[in-house]
Amino acid sequence: MLKFCKSALLALSLCLPAVANDGRILVVYPGATTPEHQIVEKIFKDLRPFEAMADSYNAKFFFPRDVLVVVAETGQANCWYQPDKHRVYISYEFLDFLLKLFRAVEPEKEARGDALNTLFFVALHEMGHALIGELDIPTTGREEDAVDDFACLTVHQVGGSAREQALAAARWFAIMGARDNKDLPYWDEHSLDLQRFYGILGLMYGADPNRFMFAEKIVPERTLKRHVQDYPKKLDSWERLLAPHFRKKLPRGQNLKI
Ligand SMILES: [Zn+2]
Repeated sequence: MLKFCKSALLALSLCLPAVANDGRILVVYPGATTPEHQIVEKIFKDLRPFEAMADSYNAKFFFPRDVLVVVAETGQANCWYQPDKHRVYISYEFLDFLLKLFRAVEPEKEARGDALNTLFFVALHEMGHALIGELDIPTTGREEDAVDDFACLTVHQVGGSAREQALAAARWFAIMGARDNKDLPYWDEHSLDLQRFYGILGLMYGADPNRFMFAEKIVPERTLKRHVQDYPKKLDSWERLLAPHFRKKLPRGQNLKI
């Protein structure tokens, strides 16, 4: 009898639909320990920028499982997506690093703005990795470049001051590229800093040449023309790859907006 029940239950379970895709992006703060990081943590908890990002992705996509965005002291000046733990790490030490970098070349107010905007751009970059990992999105070519593109496409669709996030990140790569011009990591999974600078600037120009006309003084004309052609292709690629996971398909050019 017991054996029969087990078999029946197994048969029944095989008839049931697959477990619903009801995962969520969840933001957690394990708790900062230093006074400086505790101040930043309180600001993030009050203003909820990462929660707003998570809410937007939850409204937009079906996720097969929960994904944690861990905003924390990580011991590393870095942010990353960890696929086996289904986590994105946003590091206070990385914000420290950005503040120091921008303060060396800009007044305090601009440095704070650029550091935070760069952090938010990097958060989108990591969410690009998370979408690829969690939704099993295929990539050809370098994933790091693809998720830089994803972050650019997103901030362009959001529009307004969100575009500053891409420009601040481009500034970060320009500063890094000008500073570290020897022992370049040709082997790394990331493109070189100056390549990322030109890539972000070029793609933002490709999205809206009139708005980013200043790029014509920095990036060769031939390259900018290519970005104008590439922008709609990259937009189509991301929207088509993500389409099976949308809760609701929006008109072309609006599906990455958060
Ligand atoms: Zn990355």
